[in-house]
Amino acid sequence: MIESGDKPLVEKAAGAANPVRILLVEDDPRAALLLGEMLRMTWTDGLVLAHTERVSDATQELLERGASCVILDLSIPGADQPGSIEAVRRAAPEVPIVVLSESADEDEALRAIRAGAQDYLLKPTLYPALLGRALRHAIERNRSEVRLARLALHDPLTGLPNRALFLDRLGVALDRSRRTNAPVAVLFVDVDNFKEVNDSLGHGAGDELLSALAERLRAMLRPMDTVARFGGDEFTLLFEELESEREVVLIAERISDATSLPVRLRAGETSVTVSIGVAMVGDPSVSPEAAIRNADAAMYRAKERGRARYELFDESSSRRALERIQMETALSRAVDRHEFRIHYQPTISLDAPGVIGLEALVRWQHPERGLLAPHEFIPLAEETGMVLGIGAYVLEHALDRIVRWRRVRPDVTVSVNLSARQLEDAGFARRLASTIAACGATPAALCLEVSELAVTRNPAVAQEALARFRALGVTVALDDYGIGSSSLSTLKRLPVDMLKIHQSFVSALGTGPEEASIVGAVVKLGHALGLEVVAEGVETDRQLAELRALGCDAAQGFLLGRPVTGEQVDALLAA
Ligand code: C2E
Ligand code: MG
Ligand code: MG
Repeated sequence: MIESGDKPLVEKAAGAANPVRILLVEDDPRAALLLGEMLRMTWTDGLVLAHTERVSDATQELLERGASCVILDLSIPGADQPGSIEAVRRAAPEVPIVVLSESADEDEALRAIRAGAQDYLLKPTLYPALLGRALRHAIERNRSEVRLARLALHDPLTGLPNRALFLDRLGVALDRSRRTNAPVAVLFVDVDNFKEVNDSLGHGAGDELLSALAERLRAMLRPMDTVARFGGDEFTLLFEELESEREVVLIAERISDATSLPVRLRAGETSVTVSIGVAMVGDPSVSPEAAIRNADAAMYRAKERGRARYELFDESSSRRALERIQMETALSRAVDRHEFRIHYQPTISLDAPGVIGLEALVRWQHPERGLLAPHEFIPLAEETGMVLGIGAYVLEHALDRIVRWRRVRPDVTVSVNLSARQLEDAGFARRLASTIAACGATPAALCLEVSELAVTRNPAVAQEALARFRALGVTVALDDYGIGSSSLSTLKRLPVDMLKIHQSFVSALGTGPEEASIVGAVVKLGHALGLEVVAEGVETDRQLAELRALGCDAAQGFLLGRPVTGEQVDALLAA
């Protein structure tokens, strides 16, 4: 980009009311100078010439500043490719394009015109008057076409595109998404109780309200998005190239917020709400009409549910994808909104009475779905990396508790579960050390539980991480032992202090002699490696008796104590 509005290559009759702005897309600097010179000779009224060397810069320039006409040299790299004219048109659908070519190639000329160019000029035979005339004609012809098209394709009240234009743009967007595979989002927005406004305040007020809402919607969009007045009190919106699918949820929320602000009408102030239906179209065979129907159906569901501001189209796959997005959005806010709760489950010694440890188990108090167990959100948190933030939160709170509990029971420990991500996080051990110090805890009061599955994922990384934890003085337990596939040699090398036998082995106790031998073997294995062995998920007295007989050191399970709140543990330890 050599020039912009502030430092034009060519500028005549500066101060003319409405200068014509021409964007020249030309990579050859000599040709650019020559064309500028030609224009200067032929143009007598206000003219600003902007210049970019590449098509991509040109589309950017058009999006930012617009132009009265584009001169596109087809010989520059990339410009002769199919789609380059479309790309320019897409950035500024209402700006005429005049293409320049080195040679008289009829096919090329036809292709350019079909792609939307207004005119086709041959560089070698170009002279100032011809160039000037071609540009003027292109601009004039285009102006009247645009005027006519506007009349037919826009809603006179709000100035927004009408249903016909929306359907057309949606069709183009769906075609494009067939090539790019990027989903298209269609939103259907309907004003709640619009009839009441019309009936009580009059049609004039209804019109004012619709215009105000149209203005708010328009103000929220990027230049490439479309908002249309689809019918009476219905607006439709079209989004392409969303950064992530999560964005559409945020957009729906923003629309809902923006439209519910009070509107000042001549008859006084009023406020309305809207219901929004969202359809994500990822399937290229869906027609524009079907996409709108889906968004409309979702909007109706939002209305039915009353309290819901927006609904997502209920097609099982899109539903699941969107649920996931909603979940992800909610999860990303949950730490800041203090929605996590930590419950603690006791571990009981099998040779001496009493609680020896408490395992921190996280729960999510979801704003709509209630208290969620870890399996409902930890996998997603793990996938997105949010588990790092959640893990830090759990650790901090568990350490705070243990400092207080240790004042009453000096030997009690707190266990915190780690995810594979935390194991792989290079900075975790360092942050752990400062968290422990900040809470004023003794490192030995903390036990970190790592599942055997997480270790199997990357044994070398796990081994190194666990060694670092132990170097800090923290205890390490191998959780859910028995369902992973760690070899004996891996197990021998792993720097751990404790084995927790997975509850599936414990619940099988009592069903046959083999089950007892398996648990017995694991206990012996653990002891041979110098590890403490803890049984998980003890639910019956019989299981407890067998475990004791097999020499297991400690146990955890509903029989011995369910996970309870920190306050309940406070009371338990005080008693
Ligand atoms: P885990 O570490 O093996 O925790 C034991 C799970 O078994 C807990 O489920 C506990 O409530 C349940 N349980 C305990 N005793 C019994 C019993 O007698 N019978 C039965 N049927 N279940 C019992 P919860 O709280 O749903 O946690 C599930 C898993 O989620 C945990 O398994 C752990 O892997 C993970 N998790 C929990 N909190 C966190 C956390 O803060 N961070 C990470 N990364 N993972 C966590
Ligand atoms: Mg655990
Ligand atoms: Mg476990």
